Amino acid sequence: MKPYVEMTKEELQELRKELSAQYKEFQGRDLKLDMSRGKPSAEQLDISMGMMDVLSSSDDLTCDDGTDCRNYGVLDGIKEAKELLADMMEVAPDHIIIYGNSSLNVMYDTVSRSMTHGVMGSTPWCKLDKVKFLCPVPGYDRHFSITEYFGIEMVNVPMTSTGPDMDLVEQLVASDDTIKGIWCVPKYSNPQGISYSDETVRRFARLKPAASDFRIYWDNAYTIHHLYDNDQDHLIEILAECKRAGNPDMVYKFASTSKVSFPGSGIAAIAASENNLTDIMKQLKIQTIGHDKVNQLRHVRFFKDIHGMVEHMRKHADIMRPKFEAVIETLEKELGGLEVGEWTSPKGGYFISFDSLDGCAKTIVAKCKKAGLIMTGAGATYPYGKDPHDNNIRIAPSYPTLPDLKQAMELFALCVKLVSIDHILA
Ligand code: PLP
Repeated sequence: MKPYVEMTKEELQELRKELSAQYKEFQGRDLKLDMSRGKPSAEQLDISMGMMDVLSSSDDLTCDDGTDCRNYGVLDGIKEAKELLADMMEVAPDHIIIYGNSSLNVMYDTVSRSMTHGVMGSTPWCKLDKVKFLCPVPGYDRHFSITEYFGIEMVNVPMTSTGPDMDLVEQLVASDDTIKGIWCVPKYSNPQGISYSDETVRRFARLKPAASDFRIYWDNAYTIHHLYDNDQDHLIEILAECKRAGNPDMVYKFASTSKVSFPGSGIAAIAASENNLTDIMKQLKIQTIGHDKVNQLRHVRFFKDIHGMVEHMRKHADIMRPKFEAVIETLEKELGGLEVGEWTSPKGGYFISFDSLDGCAKTIVAKCKKAGLIMTGAGATYPYGKDPHDNNIRIAPSYPTLPDLKQAMELFALCVKLVSIDHILA
């Protein structure tokens, strides 16, 4: 396939005519395809339906230690759930607190508490003139929404194939005490599907922040979300590594079972050092009498242990893998060699990231929409919705059926071609 930039103006105009006819044909199909958010498909939700049957009215809802899950009590989570989530998060059970149904909610709470009450005795951030967060880009829009909501200034840090640009992170964190945090999705990142290298994790653990209340927000949302049995990414465990490096309090680790069981009805947790957990508990005991223990018990009885969870994730992978492969295959077949875009090939997680020619992403997404395909808004992967190159588009393959997905990707590739030709000819 000849790169578009090497084609003559006449060749490109001829090609545009052909592709426009194909686009019109797509418009005639009256499609309603949605690839905008990383939601599991109904087929994936079905594999967790057994969870509805593990507790019945005749069951004893008492934990091993005698806790009656039907009643108030146990602020930091039932022991069985702490063990299950601790294994999932690769930490010791006494280093975690089980929360409610959403890890994003825990992250919001963590920022909110730091704003109003500070971090382990530091000045509350709301009393400071300026508070900044580093944001590896492209990244997760809802992280950026939280920091924007609290008026925290966001500073872009480019992602590389091994994680955020650590030279820049080290330099910024060491020289600016208004930098209080960094958003990280260390494994199968949203949206690129990149896993941080060992060196990146080691460098994170050895940061020398100017601010004593600087924290790494380590959102390990895709910790067990592999696509392949025999080709999986593994991370150095950050809590242990921070401890080894003499920075035991520098990290909060977040995770949930949202994309393991039911999004919005799973269980979430934070893992952190004892000092951090003590600080968090001071707020938590005011905030709630306890989270949903019945749901915690339901998860424990359904998965039993981490082996049950890993087995369960294989079923998710069997559904997700063909979808990821269909996206990559279509991109390669339709756009390979044209030099109008680049894309990632993740081994897990929920997303594939596509980089178009600079200045084309918004127009591509708009063109898809006009033919009935909703993609994540261009710019959403950057703080304030501003992609400085207007080139990044997040592809979320999980929700549509496989036939719909194939159709959607053909349409997407067609829109990339058309917009790229217009861009080159302009
Ligand atoms: N973190 C990341 C990186 C995500 O991609 C998502 C959902 O897409 C979440 C957190 C949301 O997690 P939860 O459902 O636990 O709030």
